[in-house]
Amino acid sequence: MHQSNFIQQLPKVELHLHIEGTLEPEMMFELAQRNQITLPFTSPEEVQAAYEFTNLQSFLDIYYQGANVLINEQDFYDLTYAYLTRCHKDNVIHSEIFFDPQTHTERGIPFDTVINGIHRALQDGCEEFGITSRIIMCFLRHLDEESAFTSLGQALEHKDKIIGVGLDSSELGHPPEKFTRVFAKAREEGFLTVAHAGEEGPVTNIHDSLELLKVSRIDHGVRCVDDADLVDYLAKTRMPLTVCPLSNTKLKVFDQMQDHNIVELLRKGLCVTINSDDPAYFGGYMTDNFLAVDKSHGLTWEELAQFTLNAIEASFVSREEKLELTAKLDAFMAD
Ligand SMILES: [Zn+2]
Repeated sequence: MHQSNFIQQLPKVELHLHIEGTLEPEMMFELAQRNQITLPFTSPEEVQAAYEFTNLQSFLDIYYQGANVLINEQDFYDLTYAYLTRCHKDNVIHSEIFFDPQTHTERGIPFDTVINGIHRALQDGCEEFGITSRIIMCFLRHLDEESAFTSLGQALEHKDKIIGVGLDSSELGHPPEKFTRVFAKAREEGFLTVAHAGEEGPVTNIHDSLELLKVSRIDHGVRCVDDADLVDYLAKTRMPLTVCPLSNTKLKVFDQMQDHNIVELLRKGLCVTINSDDPAYFGGYMTDNFLAVDKSHGLTWEELAQFTLNAIEASFVSREEKLELTAKLDAFMAD
């Protein structure tokens, strides 16, 4: 089997995916038309051309603008369902997706509209493609603690649909401690916790996410290499890092894929995983991310499969479901 066929067919598990970040320019236009919203672009090609980012903030500015076309439950359904068709094509067997309620509630869209559309699509996707999933609600860290508490309150009615809470948006200037109390309350309510840390921000944000927010996974975390003791700790405890290679090069966290440290971390025994983050904006879904890492670093089939094994280990599903996911990977590898 050719390497690229192996990568395409390899069963994959995604743990770091913002559903709003799967809004393709074509769908942005379709929804703008459906909801009679005027976009500051005249064509999908023009949107694509605007996706030249210099850093995280330059991406976020255009990302929030794009999300304005999402109004009704059906819009969130269509967005999520389109993502699942991509997953199906890429042989993603399980996905844990983020959504940002504040991006929508701040502009008057009810929390229920958002969660119900996403959840219904995930149920249909499971039935039609066999893709299992979980939902994680993220707080926008550039907003204040009070706003995060409001979102948490709204999430309580949907505990059956939301497995955990996370922290995303602008890392610089918005350290984890800003949300210590919100996360404590979330854990008290039974939510698992994750946080974006050590992407653009300093390694201290990784330490603080572990200690103050008591996270079960670090999203990104690539700046851990600035602290050798932390790298050892992450390897020893198998604390997962949900790494997003194409996102990292697109946002200049690394100049080029050859400079990315994900393979170095994998070989040091860390529980690193490959994810697509905001694939509509960063140039690729899961298979594209695997291909990009392999092209620059040259991976064995065992190493490629290890990324899936790590993701299964790091996932928020039950022991039984982990065994089922592992069985799918084993069946593929035995072939
Ligand atoms: Zn992210």
